[in-house]
Amino acid sequence: MPGMPRRLFSATPSKLATFADCARRYRYADVDRPTPPKGPAWAHNTVGAAVHAALRSWWDLPVAKRTTGGARQLLYVLGVRRTLRRPCSRVELHHLPSGTVAAFEHTERSLANHVRRAEDIAEDITAATERAAAGEDPDAAFPAVPGQQCSWCDFRPSCPTGQAAVPARETWGFLSEDDVAT
Ligand code: SF4
Repeated sequence: MPGMPRRLFSATPSKLATFADCARRYRYADVDRPTPPKGPAWAHNTVGAAVHAALRSWWDLPVAKRTTGGARQLLYVLGVRRTLRRPCSRVELHHLPSGTVAAFEHTERSLANHVRRAEDIAEDITAATERAAAGEDPDAAFPAVPGQQCSWCDFRPSCPTGQAAVPARETWGFLSEDDVAT
């Protein structure tokens, strides 16, 4: 309705990262109700194993590519600043098997850039949601972004685009050889 304030978008690091990766996956996870069917549970889905797997995957990347999730880490920095009212500019990833730590020190400028990026994504989510609610084809409002991530996307069974893009990964595919042997 004209003149009415827009409903505020409740942003979380997970929502922003999901939409930035694939708008279709965001729609499946946060817009479509009932939630579309997901694939079977992943073998690595215990907290410890999941953290282990995520860190190992990140650590295996070339140094220049170890930025995935940077927006998420950034939002945690901002969360600490705003909710705990503590100065915070450093993010760290601890690689438990080797005991090594990768750290990044944010500057006010880098923080401001990430905030702007997060706000842009939130704006895009709001716009896509409003267009779909107004009758636009949801597939057009939330376009699929097929890629390697489709092999392990939880919503692959509901997504013809992802199924056509790459083969499915086995549900135990993220376990290390040690995990599989035990
Ligand atoms: S399978 Fe791929 S294209 Fe489909 S929702 Fe998941 S990430 Fe997006």
